[in-house]
Amino acid sequence: MPDAPQLDLSADVVDVTAQLVDMESVSRDEALIADAVEQSLSSLAHLEVVRDGNTVVARTDLGRAERVVVAGHLDTVPVNANLPSRLDGDHLHGLGSCDMKGGVAVGLLLAASLPSPSRDVTYLFYECEEIEAEHNGLGRLARTRPDLLAADFAILMEPSSAVVEAGCQGTMRVDVIVRGERAHSARSWMGVNAIHGAAPVLDRLVGYQPRQPVIDALTYREGLNAVSIRGGVAGNVLPDECRVSVNYRFAPDRGVDEALAHVQTVFDGFEIELRDSAPGALPGLERPAAAAFVAVVGGQPRPKFGWTDVSQFSQLGVPAVNFGPGDPSLAHTQAERVPLADLRHCEERLRAWLTPTPSP
Ligand SMILES: [Zn+2]
Repeated sequence: MPDAPQLDLSADVVDVTAQLVDMESVSRDEALIADAVEQSLSSLAHLEVVRDGNTVVARTDLGRAERVVVAGHLDTVPVNANLPSRLDGDHLHGLGSCDMKGGVAVGLLLAASLPSPSRDVTYLFYECEEIEAEHNGLGRLARTRPDLLAADFAILMEPSSAVVEAGCQGTMRVDVIVRGERAHSARSWMGVNAIHGAAPVLDRLVGYQPRQPVIDALTYREGLNAVSIRGGVAGNVLPDECRVSVNYRFAPDRGVDEALAHVQTVFDGFEIELRDSAPGALPGLERPAAAAFVAVVGGQPRPKFGWTDVSQFSQLGVPAVNFGPGDPSLAHTQAERVPLADLRHCEERLRAWLTPTPSP
């Protein structure tokens, strides 16, 4: 087994991000980067470090009134001729620079350099965020060690252009199934065409008016969309089944059950099959720890439309926001990069939030 590469946390946030980018860590191939992260933190007396698979948890335990989580995933999507890292004037380029080794670098530097933060902090560096949910290191901890995730507030350092993105929308996929009856297409009056039967399903989708609910002063935007349509037996047969796969993105004031009931109402009269679902997360900005964070970070919080792991915290009763360096629309692209200013801003603001104010 090769030795773990060393992480030098005495460097600045740009350099640490570059070190992390240069440790290739495509999902399920994260042992080396997890070793490096664990090694860089385990010698620090103010942290208790726990390793769970390729997930590393490091906690202070100072008996502070509040505990917060600072979390990021260690994995990336597959390499796309975008390694090693490359610095141009004001951006760092390379796989994972945006999604989300910049955020991980910020977390690591804070963990190493704040022995006595104003709030107890659980730093969480987890595996397998970019692939099927069953492998997700955060999900596994939520099932097996929820005690390690207990907190008053969590920050997931996914790219958000260094703006607080609160909550997240839920997602659900259902198949709307239309039945027919097979017949030879030369004698079509003998059968019932299931694909034709799907026309009213599409009509309802075209005419659908999505909600835009306002929650904690944030305007969410729902969507109900066909994402695939399947049907057909052969070139000379009337199809007896047509499935319209529909994705419902719902605001976090609705739970999964309510979302399903809504979809059933929209497609009243049709057979529905639930394929998968994940609940959203309420923004929770009225909680003291969240309000204090927003006040320190500044700027106007935005709603998060996509689903993210903040929902996992929300399921555990921990309000969570996304806040991290990098433009989320560059995640998973070959041209992935992160502005150096975002890296420095995120580090500086989180440091301000976690540094005790000196008593007069
Ligand atoms: Zn990510």
